[in-house]
Amino acid sequence: MIKINNPIDCCGCTACKSICPKNCITMKIDREGFRYPIVDYDNCINCGLCERVCPIKNKTEGQDLGIAYAVRNIDSKVLESSAAGGTFTAISKAIFRINGLVAGVKYTESMEVKHFLANSMKEAEPFRGSKYVQSDLGSIFEEIKYQLDKGKVVCFSGTPCQISGIRGFLCNDYDNLICIDVVCKGVATPIILKKYIELNEKKYGKQIVNLSFRTKDYGYHMSTTKIEFENGDYILSSGEFNAMMGPFIQNLCLRPSCHECRFKSRKRQSDITIFDCWSYKKLTGKLDDDKGYTSVWIHSEKGKELFERMKNDIVFSELNLDEIIEADGNMVEKSISPHPNRDKYFDTLISQGLVKAAKKYAKMTLISKFKDLIKRRLYIMGIYRYNR
Ligand SMILES: Cc1cc2nc3c(=O)[nH]c(=O)nc-3n(C[C@H](O)[C@H](O)[C@H](O)COP(=O)(O)OP(=O)(O)OC[C@H]3O[C@@H](n4cnc5c(N)ncnc54)[C@H](O)[C@@H]3O)c2cc1C
Ligand code: SF4
Ligand code: SF4
Ligand code: SF4
Repeated sequence: MIKINNPIDCCGCTACKSICPKNCITMKIDREGFRYPIVDYDNCINCGLCERVCPIKNKTEGQDLGIAYAVRNIDSKVLESSAAGGTFTAISKAIFRINGLVAGVKYTESMEVKHFLANSMKEAEPFRGSKYVQSDLGSIFEEIKYQLDKGKVVCFSGTPCQISGIRGFLCNDYDNLICIDVVCKGVATPIILKKYIELNEKKYGKQIVNLSFRTKDYGYHMSTTKIEFENGDYILSSGEFNAMMGPFIQNLCLRPSCHECRFKSRKRQSDITIFDCWSYKKLTGKLDDDKGYTSVWIHSEKGKELFERMKNDIVFSELNLDEIIEADGNMVEKSISPHPNRDKYFDTLISQGLVKAAKKYAKMTLISKFKDLIKRRLYIMGIYRYNR
């Protein structure tokens, strides 16, 4: 049966919990806020299934076709509310056109980040935008298996470890499953989101109904966080300096397994990988209007077919894969080192709260804060624009 001796050896994918025939594995949240499997030994029959499906214990070879594009959704509203070029919405639309289902990540009513299964574009809209804390997978693997067995086409999107997790859990290679992963630096503890919401609801005396980890109000290339309140008000803050995103950007609050990620590779478990296309101008020689493009990297015939189905909803330029990985794909193969103060950051986060932990360990110089402020002022005045 599964036993986690070192947190680095578990990415929290839930494959073991989902496969257990005796339902004797539960995902328990540890002091850092991440979920790990705990076995109820009294009910365990020692069948070994949990170990057989674990993607960390059983490494599988991925696939790749080496085809890459810079992609943008032609709908300006979709583009505005997506993290990069709005490709995931074009993918979802293509899936719904063939009567399929789409699994992605959205906020629950209590602003937790969780995977859901959608059967219409309306239901899939909240999947838009990267939420950088680890999502709660709940029972999504079991729900997807049920739909796949009924013959439904299902598109599952998530981090590379979540894709490996569902593939491990399913055991069989379903023709009607399509997997989309993101290039992933790592996931942050859900604690930072919870505390950030509490902090700002208390400060402004209003309920928060949406939060964008990366809004484009100051352009795609500037990291900006947006909080939206129930009465329609919103506030913006610099991602580099706010108490939630600052520690994430500085690698203070990632899951331990992200620092030795076993899922980073040029050969992927997914059919399509999506990631940021920061260097659009350099890669294509075309002007960049700072509204965002997605790098789309295709690994399988299924991925190729899906891309064909998306073509009415996007504009795209073909890219050289090596060039795009060199420019923007630093996290394709490399794991990020933990910040030297990671453990102290968590101690402070737990005992003294989000702001004190960020102030102590996610320090930024006054000069960089000042430069950021000036850049934003100049942006509002229409004087500063990203170098096109
Ligand atoms: C945790 C995380 C780390 C990332 N790290 C990098 C990176 O290091 N470098 C890089 O270039 N790009 C990274 N990305 C990808 C990038 O931020 C964009 O998501 C990607 O470029 C696609 O944007 P889009 O506009 O096409 O679609 P969007 O509509 O913005 O796509 C959103 C997609 O991300 C999924 N998603 C959102 N939050 C989560 C979550 N918490 N867990 C799993 N899936 C989620 C949604 O289900 C949906 O499929 C990361 C994304 C996530 C979620
Ligand atoms: S060995 Fe079998 S019964 Fe025991 S926890 Fe693993 S899957 Fe469940
Ligand atoms: S299957 Fe996933 S959740 Fe279970 S031990 Fe392995 S990595 Fe952790
Ligand atoms: S860095 Fe690796 S382990 Fe961490 S969330 Fe991404 S794919 Fe999973």
